Parts: sequence; C-alpha cells; structure tokens
Amino acid sequence: MDQHISSPTQLFERLEALTASAQANYALVLIYPHGLRRIGSIFGARHAERIMADLSRQLEQALHPDDRIIRSGRFEFVVLLSRLVNRGHAILAVNKLAGILGSPIEIQNKERKFSFSIGMALAPEHSRDPEQLFRYAEIANLASKITRTPYQIYNHDDLKSIVTDWDIEGDLDNAITGNQLSLHYQPKIASHSGRLLGAEALMRWRHPVHGMIPPDLFIPVAERMGIMPKLTWWCLNTALRERQEWGDPARNLSVAVNISALDLTDERFIKAVTSALGLWDTRPELLTLEVTEGSLMQDIARSADILKRLQDNGIRISIDDFGTGYSSLAYFKQLPADELKIDRSFILNILNDDLDRHIVSTIIQMARKLHLEIVAEGIETAEMQEILVELGCDIIQGYHIARPIPHAEFVTWASAHD
Ligand code: C2E
Ligand code: CA
Ligand code: CA
Repeated sequence: MDQHISSPTQLFERLEALTASAQANYALVLIYPHGLRRIGSIFGARHAERIMADLSRQLEQALHPDDRIIRSGRFEFVVLLSRLVNRGHAILAVNKLAGILGSPIEIQNKERKFSFSIGMALAPEHSRDPEQLFRYAEIANLASKITRTPYQIYNHDDLKSIVTDWDIEGDLDNAITGNQLSLHYQPKIASHSGRLLGAEALMRWRHPVHGMIPPDLFIPVAERMGIMPKLTWWCLNTALRERQEWGDPARNLSVAVNISALDLTDERFIKAVTSALGLWDTRPELLTLEVTEGSLMQDIARSADILKRLQDNGIRISIDDFGTGYSSLAYFKQLPADELKIDRSFILNILNDDLDRHIVSTIIQMARKLHLEIVAEGIETAEMQEILVELGCDIIQGYHIARPIPHAEFVTWASAHD
C-alpha cells in the first residue's frame, strides 16, 4: 500500500514520480467503491474505514509487486499497473480487481455486495501525462457507472465525444437558443391520499448529432465550464412558464427545479429566482428548489446563507440525494430546508436488504424530529411504495407512479389523475 493522498496536486506529483520509473507501457486505474459514505454516516466512519482497509489489502494481494495502489480522497483507489506487455495484460489485471470488488464483504454480520465503478486509461496509448491519464480514467469511470458495467477502458472515439466534447459549451449554448432543451415532469404525490402535489422538472437535451444526452452527462460538463447559471435560469423560467399552462385545476400544484451548488455561490441568484417568480406571477411556496446534499458541502456557510434568504422569501428548499454525502442528519439543524429526498440507491434495495431498510427508517425518524417533509424517490413497484408509506414517508415519486414525461403529457396525466 502506498501512502494515503488527499489533495489532487499531491496525487499528480506522486503519479509523476511513479510513472517516471514505470516502464513504457502502463495503465492508470481509478476505482470508486459506492455506498461507503452512507455506511460511514450511519454506522460511523470507522466502519467505512475498516472496509476500505480490507479492500485495499485484497486489491494489493492481487497485484504484481511492481504495481502501486494509492488511496486518494476518502473513498477511492488509484492503481498504477506497470510493466504491461500489452493491452491484454491490462485487461486481465483490471478483471481481477473487478472480481475482488464484486465479491461480498461482511458488514454487521451480513454478507453484502457493493456496487463500484472502475475506469482505466493506458500509457502511452491515451497519453503520457499522468494528469491527463487521470482525467481519462475519470471519464472511463463515469462511463462504467452510467453503463453499470464493472469497468470501462477510456476510448477517445466513444467517450470523448459524449463526455468531454470540447465544443460542448458551444453546443449547449446552441441548445438553449436552438430549442434543443426541454423539461420533462415527474409527479410527486402524497403518500397516504395519493393526491397529486406537484412535479419535478428534469432537463432533457436532444443533440442534433448525438441524440438524447442524459442530464447526468451534460450537467457536470456545464458546471465545469461555468455555464450552469444560464441553464438554471432557463430551467427556472421554463418550469414556471409551463406551470402556468397546467391550468386552473392545477392552480395549487408546485413545481420543483433542480439547482446546482454553483448557483449558491452567487447572491444574484436570489434576485434571479424572485424576479422569475414575479415574471410568471407565481406564489413562492409553489416553487421548490432541489439541491443535492453532496454539493452543499463545498462552501456550506455561504450556501446555507443563500438558501436561508430564499426560504425567507417563501420558497421551499429540498435536500436531494440525501444519504450520499458526508453529512450526518444532526448537521441539518443548521440548514434551511423544508424537504428531504432520500437517495434512490437506498430505495432500490429496500425490499431485500435489512441494512438499507434500517438506514431509511433511521433517516425518516430523525427527519421527523427536524420537521422536514420526507420524499422517497425511485419507487418502482407497489411493494416499495407500501414499505415506504409504512416507514412514514410523506411524499412519493417514481416510475411506479409515473415516469418523467413531456409537458403536454403531464398536463393530460394530471387531469386524469384528478
Ligand atoms: P435527480 O434530481 O435525483 O432526479 C431523479 C432522477 O431519477 C431522474 O433522472 C429521474 O428520471 C430518475 N427516476 C425517477 N424515478 C425513478 C425510478 O422509479 N427509478 C429509476 N431508476 N429512476 C427514476 P434524470 O432525469 O436522468 O436526471 C438525473 C439527474 O440529473 C437528476 O437527478 C439531477 O441531479 C440532474 N438534473 C436533471 N435535470 C436537471 C436540471 O434541470 N438542473 C440540474 N442542476 N440538474 C438536473
Ligand atoms: Ca432532484
Ligand atoms: Ca435525487
């Protein structure tokens, strides 16, 4: 085991040093075990730490003595495979690593399987520069996550065009002006009465060449390139305008818009939101802003201040993807929030995993004490809905109720549901 590295600069320096001595062909493998954060926040950091240490030992045993494994960040491994004769060797090695991560480990006396993603980039084929290689491994890792395959090898042709197209900023600009963006709406219903409460607006991008690009792919790129405020502005205004078109029976339905952590770094955002409400003549309590738990942690004092001022204006604040970030529930006492959305990954296993059920029930009980409304998203079956209602969820969202649908379809759906 190499040292534990926490800053990117340190990591690149270390990689630089290692690759200088590595033989001509080598590979950089980036491994993310998923779900450890939530193990940490529920059972304590020491628990997650022990799992990381176990994994690290097992991975190391599978490697060649010349290979290096580095822990970077809290829950990631960077592996440097050296002395590779050819690409086939790299594939053998990464298969071995995936095999280890795919085997069950014991947590709280129960064998559990983790999901994980692995991305690999090759030198000199993809680049010789460790920083560039790391970026490529990151892109491949994202592809592994999205395609739910154990690992992906970076591929200039497939991946670069979808994930790091250099003109994506220009393309996204055109997307707004060229009418390529639209919003789909997914209903949120009251768990007990089944009454329709409103809908979450989800962005869709139909690219003229690449077809439908999922938001998971283009939003991180937009964030990196600094055009997120523009997208949020578009989304906010479109959602409020379309909400008006839901018509009279839908007068009290609310609309939820996802915002990015970057929106919460600039005070002008508050004015942007309140003017949009004025422009579309909408009562503030009919707008919910969803912000992911993980994104809040970057500059918590500032984000909390901006959220508080939005809330003071009557706008509802929802903490999205709860359970995937670093924070503990106690910490939410300081956050202005009205709603908490339990991350989809917990809901997914709720029927057959005691641990996830226990986590969800703990989250609900504590959220109750903080007077937060609890939303379960990703409800795919009647059985899932039943369990979540039983556990005390207030609001339900998921394919079982309805998939995200285009605006016109939502209007029809809403009047039929009524
Ligand atoms: P999210 O905010 O957590 O949105 C929920 C995602 O779960 C949506 O994916 C939705 O289609 C999907 N989903 C809903 N019900 C189910 C279900 O029962 N089963 C499964 N498997 N999935 C379900 P989508 O639309 O692909 O959006 C992905 C993410 O992209 C969103 O996650 C959100 O973080 C981001 N996003 C989407 N639109 C916007 C936007 O306008 N602005 C920002 N900042 N982010 C957005
Ligand atoms: Ca959301
Ligand atoms: Ca979510």
